[in-house]
Amino acid sequence: MAEADNINLAATRTDGLGCHAGREQLRQAAAAAGKSEVLDAYARDYPAGPHAQPQSMCPAFGSLRVGLRMRRTATVLSGSACCVYGLTFTSHFYGARRPVGYVPFNSETLVTGKLFEDIREAVHQLADPALYDAVVIINLCVPTASGVPLQMLPKSINGVRIIGIDVPGFGVPTHAEAKDVLAGAMLRYARSEAEQGPVQAPRAGRDTRPTVSLLGEVFPADPITVGALLEPLGLAAGPVVPTREWRELYAALDCVAVAALHPFYTAAVREFSAAGRKVVPSAPVGHDGTAAWLEAIGAACNVPEARVAAAKQRFLPAIRGALASAPIRARVTLSGYEGSELLVARLLVESGAQVPYVGTACPRTLWSDPDREWLEARGVRVHYRASLEDDLAALQEFSPDLAIGTTPVVQKAKQRAIPALYFTNLISARPLMGMAGAGALSAVINAALANKQRFATMREFFGDVGEGYASGIWTGPARDRPEFRQRYQGQLAKLAKARQAEEPV
Ligand code: SF4
Repeated sequence: MAEADNINLAATRTDGLGCHAGREQLRQAAAAAGKSEVLDAYARDYPAGPHAQPQSMCPAFGSLRVGLRMRRTATVLSGSACCVYGLTFTSHFYGARRPVGYVPFNSETLVTGKLFEDIREAVHQLADPALYDAVVIINLCVPTASGVPLQMLPKSINGVRIIGIDVPGFGVPTHAEAKDVLAGAMLRYARSEAEQGPVQAPRAGRDTRPTVSLLGEVFPADPITVGALLEPLGLAAGPVVPTREWRELYAALDCVAVAALHPFYTAAVREFSAAGRKVVPSAPVGHDGTAAWLEAIGAACNVPEARVAAAKQRFLPAIRGALASAPIRARVTLSGYEGSELLVARLLVESGAQVPYVGTACPRTLWSDPDREWLEARGVRVHYRASLEDDLAALQEFSPDLAIGTTPVVQKAKQRAIPALYFTNLISARPLMGMAGAGALSAVINAALANKQRFATMREFFGDVGEGYASGIWTGPARDRPEFRQRYQGQLAKLAKARQAEEPV
């Protein structure tokens, strides 16, 4: 079987280890199996920082989520059962409305090439044009490392587009960037279709005004706010990319400019640039951010300066008033992996908060440069590709009144009796842009700050009960057993040695 020649047997030995170990080994295996080109492209698009991979969920979740949110799209995973279990669980935890497809494998089907045949069969079975516009198939770590050649799948079956992508944890640093992998692949496909002839119009018809497409999975009210900001400029908000439907991809490409509201969509930006569209960085956040964004959009879309000035006059005093009426008087550290961390920090600073540190798992790009520059000019330390260690060090260094961060940061802060808010669920689930964003953060932040005394009381009451060796459930008084720890560490060292001896040379 021709495909079997591409399969790298060595990679299968790390099946089940994936993100826990063998990262370098998987990368080498993937290169040996003919995936160098795709890995090199990812390394260019998603440069690693001082910390190669910030701790976050499995990156493939980003691509999976983008596929599951689309109408008439089937999304199928190819990977180890444990990875698929975790990804399916997370998808449904976050309210996926569609099922996750799975082509299972074992070492035998992987090394004989049968897995690829199974994927091909699954894709043919799914490709019913009455049900689907597209079938997305995602190679996870082991199939990517083994060289399962998704590029050999047909590009379309019965008119249903087939999109095969490799999204390994050892090649795509964050789930945010994995959204870009699929969004970019879909835009590329849609662009080539549009170049070949007429394509489907948007469901609600084409807007008569020139549109600005929005890049980033923003809070649902934000595109409406952005539309209201664009209206006096004679423009309308176009589709949000990642889109909810295939035909929206054409409408997204058919814009005058693109607002890179989230700054990590490198592959998607490349497709818009190839279609001749200008890309505007940052977002209309707070007073200064909205002013600069309206100017940048005006320049990109050739809007007369007087019209831009009138729009600023209409919106900016109201935004300033809303910010002033909901002040935040506190020192706040902030970190996350959604890509909107710098925007939230701007809003906090304009609300009166002192923000000494912003950490983001995302890389530095051109599209967040205006936000970085604005923040740095106000003494904020911006850390791209921030690891958990960086975020915890900032917590230690700045002793904030409130920490906004990922789950482990929030947990650590609460242990220290510092009020804390989880970025993903509590901060990015709120409007950020224009008038709606101004002041929207302060209610949740000021409520959390008011809990400070409660944390102090709890800490005083519990003291160090349940900490260190005393954590867990004890039927009698907690007792330190250093000899158990020593024995367990010995066992771990033995296991590591045995694993090393089994590794292929
Ligand atoms: S696919 Fe995701 S969960 Fe599985 S090994 Fe790779 S990074 Fe880890």
